[in-house]
Amino acid sequence: MVSAELLEILRCPNCVREKEGNLTLYKDSWLICQDCNRKYPIVDDIPVMLIDEGDKWVSTSQESLPVPPPAK
Ligand SMILES: [Zn+2]
Repeated sequence: MVSAELLEILRCPNCVREKEGNLTLYKDSWLICQDCNRKYPIVDDIPVMLIDEGDKWVSTSQESLPVPPPAK
């Protein structure tokens, strides 16, 4: 599990400079940006907050996201 405290401070690295970049937790495995729809995997309880990583999933619907996310 990723702690609630950590989730509260995490923001989408792509959006945080110009917008909120708020993230929604999905199935304890993904963080989905409300602004750009990038999706960041949580691997071994560590959110992978890399724009390149989020880019890979931007056009994948959340229902299609693999759970658990693929390991690196
Ligand atoms: Zn974003």
